[in-house]
Amino acid sequence: MVSRSRMENTADHGQHPYAVIVTCSDSRVVPEFIFSAGIGDLFVIRGAGNTIDDCTLGSIEYAIAHLGCKLVVVLGHTSCGAVTAAVQGIRERHVSNITDRIQSCLCGEKDIGCACRKNILNTLRIVEDDLPERHDVRYVGGIYDIREGTVEFFEDLHETE
Ligand SMILES: [Zn+2]
Repeated sequence: MVSRSRMENTADHGQHPYAVIVTCSDSRVVPEFIFSAGIGDLFVIRGAGNTIDDCTLGSIEYAIAHLGCKLVVVLGHTSCGAVTAAVQGIRERHVSNITDRIQSCLCGEKDIGCACRKNILNTLRIVEDDLPERHDVRYVGGIYDIREGTVEFFEDLHETE
């Protein structure tokens, strides 16, 4: 929701988002709608297949260190096209930068639903392993169902493997 007063407040006093959302570029996945959030609430990092690289890690690190984010959510989604392309072995110019990265964590998984979960968990692991450990920051993974509009958070990283 766009709030004029929120726009003015954040323009005057800066942003203090409560969460970092690492998610897919898919147009059906809109974090602000999914979490009923407004301007200044979420620090969103998007890339096809919610993949992660050094620039993405830098963005997360910045949000934690300088904006005070205490929650990092890696949010994948059902029927992810990037994951599907990786499962199908599609390699096209720059797209292969994404599909190769996803494919490397799938261990031959062919079921798209399972592959989406593995990809989310892989991104979550990279984020947790590469960023400085802080006891006051929580990292969670979740999958958004594009048909139902619901998010299932992963309680236990090993549960879905
Ligand atoms: Zn996707």
